[in-house]
Amino acid sequence: MTKAAVLTGVKKYEIRDVDLPPLPDDGLLLDVIACGVCGSDLRRWREGPPEGFENIISGHEVAAVVAAVGKDVTDYKVGDRLALAPDVHCGKCYFCQHGQYNLCDNLKLVGISPDIPGGFAEQMILTGDVLRNGIVHRIPEGMSDLHATLSEPASSVLASHQKAGTTLGNTVVVLGGGPIGCLHIAVAKERGAKVILSEPTEVRRKMAVNFNPEAIIDPSAEDVVKRVKELTNGLGADIVICANPVAVTQTQAVEMVRKGGRVVLFGGLPKANPMTSLDGNKIHYGEINVVGAFSYHPTVHAQALQFFADRPELAEKLISHIYSLDQVNDAFSIAGSGDALKVVVLNR
Ligand SMILES: [Zn+2]
Ligand SMILES: [Zn+2]
Repeated sequence: MTKAAVLTGVKKYEIRDVDLPPLPDDGLLLDVIACGVCGSDLRRWREGPPEGFENIISGHEVAAVVAAVGKDVTDYKVGDRLALAPDVHCGKCYFCQHGQYNLCDNLKLVGISPDIPGGFAEQMILTGDVLRNGIVHRIPEGMSDLHATLSEPASSVLASHQKAGTTLGNTVVVLGGGPIGCLHIAVAKERGAKVILSEPTEVRRKMAVNFNPEAIIDPSAEDVVKRVKELTNGLGADIVICANPVAVTQTQAVEMVRKGGRVVLFGGLPKANPMTSLDGNKIHYGEINVVGAFSYHPTVHAQALQFFADRPELAEKLISHIYSLDQVNDAFSIAGSGDALKVVVLNR
């Protein structure tokens, strides 16, 4: 038995005692210490549990300590501190065979796939499958458990800048604020870039000030393409990151990037309307690279852990709210309001 936050309806968690599956011989029992609230958790909370799954336990930005090990486990021991990320690849498909695990055809996600319970609970079981093909890394010594929960959302941000090649002297435009936008600002600056943020919500623009972008644009009040051109001496930005689910900003990204520049489609569009409109001639004659970015290779999660182990002050700035498991509905309300940066549920 473990205490868990069970999603029972739209925007409704109930704290319940639920049965844990038996500890597999090749698996682990974890005491969850902290679990961050992700955008994907918020989406499910707004939609309610999917048909046929009444007892969803979400949460994948997990910091935990090993409470028991299965009898065949040799790599882990009781007391080990672990950070988790959701992806569990199959190891067999074309993409896994080519090392592109994030593109796995049979990807399962801890705390997102409805049949794999996640971290908004006091305890959780990690199966051998997750240990072998999932993303589990040790939390560096001296690093706070709370900060370790940031490694998951930071991984996709780090991976996208590796893909974009963000480097010294670049001007990077981040379209979309909030916790992910602020992570993009921080990572781009650490890689030596100047950052321009575009964000329509005042409260989010104010939160972003803390991360020191060189300029902040309100696209509801000014022409964002024109402003970016002005700020780059008419050239356009080296890299534009679309970190929001809004198709029109993808159109604008191609307008504001310089010739030979890169546009990264980091945020997905709504499932019901995923079409986007990009100026094909700009892309053709300007040799603009438009690239998708989704999830990350498992090693990036280890890099993200070290990134925050080395930068505790940055982690502190990113976490704006901490709640107990009993207050999980409050945690989701504030995270969903848009008035928060990272919201974390802390068990102890
Ligand atoms: Zn996440
Ligand atoms: Zn696969």
